[in-house]
Amino acid sequence: MRDATDRGHFLRQIVADDVANGRHVRIVTRFPPEPNGYLHIGHCKSICLNFGLASEFGGVTNLRMDDTNPLKEDEEYVEGIAEDVAWLGFSWAGSFHASDYFEQMYLWAEHLVVAGHAYVCHQTEEEMRAGRGTVTVHGTSSPFRNRPASESLDLLRRMRAGEFPDGAATLRARADMASPNMKMRDPPLYRIRHARHHRTGDTWCVYPMYDYAHPLSDAIEGVTHSVCTLEFENNRELYDWVIAHCPVPHKPRQYEFARLSLQSTMMSKRRLLNLVQEGLVTGWDDPRMPTIAGLRRRGVRANALREFAERVGVARAANLVSMDLLDTAIREDLEPFARRGLAVLRPLPIEVVNWPENEVQAFETPWGPEGFDNGSRTIPFGRQVFIEREDFQAEPEEGFRRLAPGRTVRLRHAFVITCTDVLYDEAGNVSGLRATADLSSRGAPAKASATLHWVCAARAVRLQTRLFERLFSVDRPDAEPDFRTVLNPKSRTDIEAWAEPALLSLAPGDHVQLERLGFFFCDPTDSRTGAPVLNRVTTLRDSFPKSVVRAPPPPASAPIVAVKAKAPDPLAQPWLDRGVGDEEGRVLAHDPNLAALFEEAFATFADAQSLGAFLVHHARSALKDGVLLNTHRVGTIAKRLAQNVINGRGADVLLRSEGDVDADIDALNLRIITDEGALWAFVLASFAAFPDKEAALRSGKTGLQGFFVGDVMKRSDGRAHAATVSRLMIQLISR
Ligand code: ATP
Ligand code: MG
Repeated sequence: MRDATDRGHFLRQIVADDVANGRHVRIVTRFPPEPNGYLHIGHCKSICLNFGLASEFGGVTNLRMDDTNPLKEDEEYVEGIAEDVAWLGFSWAGSFHASDYFEQMYLWAEHLVVAGHAYVCHQTEEEMRAGRGTVTVHGTSSPFRNRPASESLDLLRRMRAGEFPDGAATLRARADMASPNMKMRDPPLYRIRHARHHRTGDTWCVYPMYDYAHPLSDAIEGVTHSVCTLEFENNRELYDWVIAHCPVPHKPRQYEFARLSLQSTMMSKRRLLNLVQEGLVTGWDDPRMPTIAGLRRRGVRANALREFAERVGVARAANLVSMDLLDTAIREDLEPFARRGLAVLRPLPIEVVNWPENEVQAFETPWGPEGFDNGSRTIPFGRQVFIEREDFQAEPEEGFRRLAPGRTVRLRHAFVITCTDVLYDEAGNVSGLRATADLSSRGAPAKASATLHWVCAARAVRLQTRLFERLFSVDRPDAEPDFRTVLNPKSRTDIEAWAEPALLSLAPGDHVQLERLGFFFCDPTDSRTGAPVLNRVTTLRDSFPKSVVRAPPPPASAPIVAVKAKAPDPLAQPWLDRGVGDEEGRVLAHDPNLAALFEEAFATFADAQSLGAFLVHHARSALKDGVLLNTHRVGTIAKRLAQNVINGRGADVLLRSEGDVDADIDALNLRIITDEGALWAFVLASFAAFPDKEAALRSGKTGLQGFFVGDVMKRSDGRAHAATVSRLMIQLISR
């Protein structure tokens, strides 16, 4: 085997130098997934790299859930991630969550404010984006940039206390509005999100941004080398800024490497989640998925994935890795130990005319592979056998070496046979063959043009198999406007095969090579005792039809650049120029129906940003559900949402109702409650329900305000006006 491993890659060199120079007593790395989905094979590369680097130099690696966005994260994913990392064969020194450090991070935020390095800003997202300038134009400072530190500190505390609704304020770094690096132009460090977090519950309503939370988490854990993918290269300056301006106990450093992109699949958890949620695959562990769970279910072993990661190597140049590289690693892993068995997918019957009728003999045969003791089984042989339909050609084309009229082939582990007759059905298709067997040829050398797999028709058992091909029919599905349009319709074929009877003894989790068909894995979930379901892990060579792959191979000199999740989309630019948000612009650019709706509704509500957001986040799903939308109503609903008359849930209800919007708002009880009397009642009810917490709040535990605001939101079905609730609550407890 070619040694394609990249032992001397640049990161290993950096760590080796740091160790040699005594820069660190102990190497500490971390693997920091966001628990918003299951891990994929790209993560596998990062896991192998982080754990591999540390263990090679006697260090340790932490597993850290980067759980700073309460809206997307889930405990299910946390467990799935830990399971996958352990299954890959790595043990972490500590298992942490970024949310473990929320309190510390918040204290450092106050520190930044006091030191004049951060301020509370009330610009909207849109204003901030506009103020950030462009690559060629300096940013414009926020009007709040120079407010006194004491004022910012007070506001930050009130943000934490839940006094402001989402989006009303952010904490921004006071970095450098003229920096050539756009990331340094006073980036947000904290934002308000009145959302329940899967671990911290309702304790917080301000959440740190990735660029703030990540370096601090690294610093708290004493991480020495914080390794991430290249799209964070521009964030490094901010990473260093945060480390330099907070009184941290350790000074970690960030290094980047190229993320793994694999041919004909996608690596974005967000898009993989789309596949799962839209039912385009059977789940995160669908064997066609590039997830660790999917690959495991398919029958790939951890050893093959680690080997694959090693061979892919570590570099800073992005490229698209061929699926063959993965298939090769899988084959090489299974080859030395997987048993061999015989099964036929599409049978063509042969009558062996010199074999007695009704006689079946059984041949004791080792399971193999050669040199590996897997015990043995008996293979029955009778007068009727099945071979694979495609192993016979009545008029053999050039280069076809298998069975044809008059030809002699070997039946694996049995005799050589010579085809004497071809039988046809009424439609003129080959329906069977006759052959004679050389009964002295079993186990003896004999001249044959090929060796075929076969089964004894009288004793064959049925075996469920699942054959997988690539999930997508192009090399880079994530470069398509919509990856759904390039799903490979033949990515899974279920075939009930005819098999030698011994294969019924396969147990869930067993591997077997069905000779000439590929390596198979006995599905751990769907198999039953005596009824195995076999997933094809990989064929024995690359036999995927080449015609399936549409994109031409890249020229050797120009590696395909990995597609970043946030690559600019030129089609979206006109939308962005009109003031529509990034994400929304991207959607509108590729959805003509939605774009048309935008133009019509714009006549009613000419706020491009709010209208775009409304269409993408609310109207789109209504359209998908087949709701007929009246454009004037759409504009009005978007306007009422922007005016805070209704909330998002109310908007969804209205989209599906029919009358006059304003009349419906009241008829359906959707109006956001701003009436103080009504809100008082909610606040008092909430206090009455949690007397201990109320007492704690009154005695100064201001963090509980967020909890109570959240509780009032629940009680009011999300209709309470959060900022007013906060204000009333403060009035109440300060009396
Ligand atoms: P995705 O876009 O799939 O959600 P992500 O980068 O947002 O990926 P995280 O959970 O934040 O996912 O990633 C955890 C770690 O894995 C990060 O350090 C990230 O750089 C790394 N990683 C993610 N995708 C890849 C990849 N394709 N190749 C190598 N490393 C990756
Ligand atoms: Mg992510």
